[in-house]
Amino acid sequence: MDLKDIFDLNLCLRCTGRIFAGVDTGLTNEERGKRLYFAYKSIYGEKDIPETCYICNGVFQRFDEFFNILMSKIGDYEFGSILVGSIFDDSIIEKEKDIQARFGSKGESIKKEFNREFGKYLSNIIKRPFSKDADLIIEVDTIYDNVNIILKPVYIYGIYIKKSRDMSQTRWIHRTGDSVESIIGKELKAMTGCENYYLHGAGREDVDVMMLGNGRQFIIEASNPKVRNIDLSELQLRVNRSGTVFIYNLSYSSKSNVRKIKSEMHDKLYVAEVSGDIRNNIKNACDYFNDIIIDQRTPLRVINHRSDIVRHKKINYINIISIMNERAILKIRAEAGTYIKELVTGDNGRTNPSLSSVYGSGLQVSSLDVIKIYRDD
Ligand SMILES: [Zn+2]
Repeated sequence: MDLKDIFDLNLCLRCTGRIFAGVDTGLTNEERGKRLYFAYKSIYGEKDIPETCYICNGVFQRFDEFFNILMSKIGDYEFGSILVGSIFDDSIIEKEKDIQARFGSKGESIKKEFNREFGKYLSNIIKRPFSKDADLIIEVDTIYDNVNIILKPVYIYGIYIKKSRDMSQTRWIHRTGDSVESIIGKELKAMTGCENYYLHGAGREDVDVMMLGNGRQFIIEASNPKVRNIDLSELQLRVNRSGTVFIYNLSYSSKSNVRKIKSEMHDKLYVAEVSGDIRNNIKNACDYFNDIIIDQRTPLRVINHRSDIVRHKKINYINIISIMNERAILKIRAEAGTYIKELVTGDNGRTNPSLSSVYGSGLQVSSLDVIKIYRDD
């Protein structure tokens, strides 16, 4: 390499040193730039070296300025670990790449040096550890002289019970009224100061179905939380005061667990109250559903938002608990994803066989509750 070619570029010492970051390690880029300049000076004599240059535009001298913007945005957010990133103009990144390519592409990018150096500067002041999965992502935008902050959401796992036959799991977009999500979320928001919240359920029951027994797993996500560490037993207490939604087994969780609980498939046990022309011989029809596979085409009531396909679902059993006044109380165990109302009614032949088709007379479901989900916990 020719030192004259290097210094003809008119870069600052830091950006000069960065061209050879991978060759001569153990020095800072600026120190390396200084050494190169001494070598240059001994051959070619003195030269004016700029303090900043067209690659860095002085960003390394502006840490205090970025820090002040950051502090004004952080406000009273609670965070443990941090991660520093940055945005540079593409043309600068390209220019630097071209320069480094002329000298063997052994350099380091300005972005990498900036993230490291600003990170060091920050951790000296705010004393927080770095993490790839940080609570707070700090992104310095050197194009618009701004600092963006992204707070990792807080995820809380739990199990809920819903004692209402008039409540959806998540909030309606165009309707008001309580949901499992809003009852838990309202308290979560009050305790964390989060901007918004999202409930991720391990499956869902219909609006008019109670979720009883051992309950359903969920993870609730609080976005942009001000407080990350809350007393989960207090959250439980506050939610359970609702008298309709009860939560328990709360623990801190993560985004990856959302996918996990959403993908789990478990058999369920239901209690259904069935009405129609009910006589004692309904027992024969119930007995027919002993470990059999039914064909279930997407029900008419949900066809507008689900694809129209035929699912094959296993029905473990249908047992009679009691028969009284044209009504039968049934216990039904079925595979995950079985539409129980249609298993009873037949849904105009779309579910086959159905309890109605085997019985030979139309049956309706007057109420339905989930009383157990067969999971391992
Ligand atoms: Zn520079």
